[in-house]
Amino acid sequence: FLKDRAAAITGSTSGIGLAYARALAKEGAHLVINGILPADEAETLRSELANEFGVKVLFSAADMTKPEEIAGFIAQAEAEFGAVDILVNNAGIQHVAPVDEFPLAKWDQIIAINLSSAFHTTRAALPKMKAKGWGRIINTASAHAFVASPYKSAYVAAKHGIAGFTKTVALEVATKGITVNAIAPGYVWTPLVEKQIPDTMKARGLTKEQVINDVLLTAQPTKEFVTVEQVAALAVFLCTDAAKSITGTTLPMDGGWTAA
Ligand code: NAD
Repeated sequence: FLKDRAAAITGSTSGIGLAYARALAKEGAHLVINGILPADEAETLRSELANEFGVKVLFSAADMTKPEEIAGFIAQAEAEFGAVDILVNNAGIQHVAPVDEFPLAKWDQIIAINLSSAFHTTRAALPKMKAKGWGRIINTASAHAFVASPYKSAYVAAKHGIAGFTKTVALEVATKGITVNAIAPGYVWTPLVEKQIPDTMKARGLTKEQVINDVLLTAQPTKEFVTVEQVAALAVFLCTDAAKSITGTTLPMDGGWTAA
């Protein structure tokens, strides 16, 4: 049902972003994928997606810490497809450290990638979306948009910020046929989660198994990781006509985490 729509997805070479790309392409959407990847691997991924789903796929190496490169990412999508119909702000990184030891550069990098990049893409993509009178903006928030965990100050601040930004933009475009929502997953098994295990082991003095069972899945009443396919299926639903009255929300998909 997304034939002739174009989706631009930040941070879509891995994990949840790649699952969004696959799920939207399966519905017929053309794609602009983005992420930090060596050029040959990016080209392999780009052509695999194009062949598997029979849609046009572009790759953008735009660094989500650089506003001018982010503007270029949207411009590249518009040059090929006319407008970005579906904008998915998903790029994100994590760093785990006590706030009084938190590296300054890491704070700035996390706020830039996890929060400010969504502002830069949204402001660039909105004029053409408004002109078309149809659009979907989907931001990947997190359970950390609602609750905190120690040692994740920058990430929690950015994700709370994304929830507020989502609400604000939703109000601004409410009469324009554009919905703006965030999805708030609990723990999803992706490279982002795998990479934070060593630092969490160090910060809390735990083994890998203890971090998985006693830190990560402890918060998640289902005791199961959310899957990337489940998160992507919600994004696809948000693109349907049935979802056109859902706007300004941050929708949890967290195995009950934020119910507790
Ligand atoms: P991931 O590490 O698998 O993917 C992150 C993506 O972002 C990759 O494509 C990477 O190349 C890209 N990226 C990183 N820095 C970038 C930059 N400077 N410029 C452009 N792209 C960049 O991680 P993931 O777990 O799939 O996370 C995706 C999103 O989901 C993030 O916003 C994350 O905060 C959020 N999230 C993840 C979980 C989880 O448990 N995995 C839970 C809730 C929310």
